Amino acid sequence: NRRIILASRPVGMPTSANLPIETQTLAEPAEGQILVKVIYLSLDPYMRGRMNAGRSYAANVAEGDVMVGGAAGRVVASKSPKFKEGDYVFGMFGWQEYYLGDAAGVRKLDPAQAPISTSLGVLGMPGMTAYVGLLDKGQPKEGETVVVSAASGAVGGVVGQIAKIKGCRAVGIAGGPEKCAYVVDELGFDACVDYKAPDFLEAFKAAVPKGVDVYFENVGGKVADAVFSRMNDFGRVALCGLIAHYNDTGAPEGPDNLPRFMFNLLSRRLSVNGFIVSDHPDRAGDFFRDVSGWIRDGQLRYREDIVEGGLDATVEAFQGLLTGRNFGKLIVKISED
Ligand code: NDP
Repeated sequence: NRRIILASRPVGMPTSANLPIETQTLAEPAEGQILVKVIYLSLDPYMRGRMNAGRSYAANVAEGDVMVGGAAGRVVASKSPKFKEGDYVFGMFGWQEYYLGDAAGVRKLDPAQAPISTSLGVLGMPGMTAYVGLLDKGQPKEGETVVVSAASGAVGGVVGQIAKIKGCRAVGIAGGPEKCAYVVDELGFDACVDYKAPDFLEAFKAAVPKGVDVYFENVGGKVADAVFSRMNDFGRVALCGLIAHYNDTGAPEGPDNLPRFMFNLLSRRLSVNGFIVSDHPDRAGDFFRDVSGWIRDGQLRYREDIVEGGLDATVEAFQGLLTGRNFGKLIVKISED
């Protein structure tokens, strides 16, 4: 088995020195275990946090351990009554070619219902993040303006489309004209603003003529500054992610904007709801029913960015996620089916 381990904790952008490939010999499955050949590995921004030491909402990866990650694959040997050889499955199999371990927590997939890669994106954790964050934390009402950053991505793309389904004005923010065109033309958002363009602030203002009622925050930095300055009274912020800061190595230079930010929260009576999708397993049934229904009806579309090259291409692909090189849900094809 070839696998990528966390050899050392990165400072700033992770490199292949932090994340080398090692080879191990696998035993036969013991009672209750399965052996899975990984086909698709999901790469997600939260993995950057797991590489750090220090307190967070989930345990860090220990130095020397295989990197965590959700993946879809096929059972090649089973000593569990739950699975048989040939079953397609989703689980936290990690950055590796084979998973040998407990069958608990592993879920069976039906490739006749949806491509197995969707278990990593639109019908998996990122799709559910969009669903729970927008509906439960953002509480959008018909006619309101919903803004989402990283709008062409796995989470953001679903957020704006659900906002449209709920009768809102959906405005995306994304990096570059190609991503913005996709968000409007393919996903059906009302507008999308390129935060890398020199006229970003004016273009954003023009895109939200009635201000912002719900902000689904994925990014932080100057994008967040722009949106917070246009929030309406009693606006809601679903605080989902801050990807612009995941590689930060210290506090930013410049003036302390915290007092201004806090006054803004106070005077506009904003509510900011940080949330983590794994705290909401009770919503999994509703999510799956609604989102798979919307996909079937043609009301919700998704895009996957599937990187070829297997484990050898994984670290570079992950770096690309933290710099915006991916376009849609980032997945690495680890092996042929
Ligand atoms: P995406 O598919 O959106 O990919 C990440 C995107 O982030 C990039 O394509 C890029 O888009 C944008 N980005 C990267 N670096 C920067 C930067 N420095 N400044 C601004 N934008 C940047 O990823 P996901 O949809 O999987 O995740 C989106 C967010 O949701 C992340 O913040 C993630 O941590 C969070 N998340 C939170 C969960 C929770 O439970 N709270 C669960 C799942 C995800 P662009 O080119 O447009 O800049």
